[in-house]
Amino acid sequence: MACRYWCGECDFRTPWLSRALGEEELVRHYHRDHRGIAPEGHVEAGRWPLDLACGCLVAAAAAAALLLIATALGRLP
Ligand SMILES: [Zn+2]
Repeated sequence: MACRYWCGECDFRTPWLSRALGEEELVRHYHRDHRGIAPEGHVEAGRWPLDLACGCLVAAAAAAALLLIATALGRLP
């Protein structure tokens, strides 16, 4: 599940990342811009897991490539 973390102090938000990477990114932002304040804000969870969506695209492309190869091989004498 892709998550985006919003800073509780300013307009900063992380890119869509995994939960662990997003947390790390927010902590790094607090350390850089709001030193001494405990990280707050909220988490926005993606409706669709982006990594899964990308995986599906790759799978679809691979299937299309296999189909093309199979068709080409079928036409060989
Ligand atoms: Zn901030």
